[in-house]
Amino acid sequence: MKDIKNYTLEELRKLLEKGGCLRFSAQQIFNWIYKRRIEDFNLMTDISKQTRQFLKDNFYFSRLKLLKREISKDKTEKFLFGLEDDSCIESVLISQVSRLTLCISTQVGCKFGCKFCLSGKDGFRRNLKVCEITNQYLTVADLIAPRKITNIVFMGIGEPLDNFANTVCAVKIFTHPQGVYFGKRKICLSTCGLVPQIKKLADLNLGVKLSISLHSPDEAARSKIMPINKKYPLSELIKAVKDFNKKEKRHITFEYVLVRGLNTSKVDAQKLSKLLRGVNYKINLISFNYTCARKGACFEFKVPTEAEINSFKNELKKKGVFFTLRKSKGADINAACGQLRALFKNR
Ligand code: SAH
Repeated sequence: MKDIKNYTLEELRKLLEKGGCLRFSAQQIFNWIYKRRIEDFNLMTDISKQTRQFLKDNFYFSRLKLLKREISKDKTEKFLFGLEDDSCIESVLISQVSRLTLCISTQVGCKFGCKFCLSGKDGFRRNLKVCEITNQYLTVADLIAPRKITNIVFMGIGEPLDNFANTVCAVKIFTHPQGVYFGKRKICLSTCGLVPQIKKLADLNLGVKLSISLHSPDEAARSKIMPINKKYPLSELIKAVKDFNKKEKRHITFEYVLVRGLNTSKVDAQKLSKLLRGVNYKINLISFNYTCARKGACFEFKVPTEAEINSFKNELKKKGVFFTLRKSKGADINAACGQLRALFKNR
């Protein structure tokens, strides 16, 4: 038995055809699942009995187990979900004035070992299936109705571009007019900088936004905190970004976590301005989230002082670097990458 939510509309059409059913029913099934939110083949009354039988014999609907739901003082909500193999993942719902953004995971654990991030502290277990990615959205959307999620960011646990095929498939289901029909520009994929996959993504022209976790404009310093930089250095990353700018005809967002004494000097600001020459970009600066769930993890990183942030901001302004300073959210519920999961596992 396969989870029916693992397939794009095109794939479902092919599967139905192979099973001797009408291709056309795929559209109706998509409608039932993603628009009317019905997960029972018996209730899909406009589909023929024979097709419904084929569906029941071959497919099922997986669900995520809600293990924990927490809400922080700033209204950030965190959901801890159990999967069929008892792995855990998390999704975070971030409330802003006119936005309700859902941050979803793409892998159980992470291979890339960024030094300040908890997601990869216990290594990598597996890729999430398409249905496990889309189910995070579907489950949270059902739980919070009638409130509506306005944005989806692939910024939870894992590296979306390392689970490329399933991430792309989930995006297609999210954006398809017969599927969830979520606006392409309201979806953002985030990567630590997998250059070949950024190129592949640019060629696909999915129309979704791309965000790069930059965190340092200096090759040596970036390699220290983000080991992926040894494989794909900044020089190659920036080339891939420019290519994405051209092919997708849109800017790229850089995430830049401010860490005390690490990436906030005047020289860093100058290097950043030089690095980004000729790039169509936006930068989000965000203070390091220190609420590390386990003793010993990220202990060497500290939150920058107000004065340090101000001096970095001033230097960026002087150099004409365009940025937004973001507020770190959900600190009291451990809302940074991998934190709730780590806490839960330690119980
Ligand atoms: N692997 C992808 C998707 C994860 S996005 C990527 O790296 O982009 C999660 C974002 O949160 C990344 O920008 C990551 O660098 C950042 N992050 C991780 N731990 C953090 C912490 N303790 N404080 C602030 N940001 C953190």
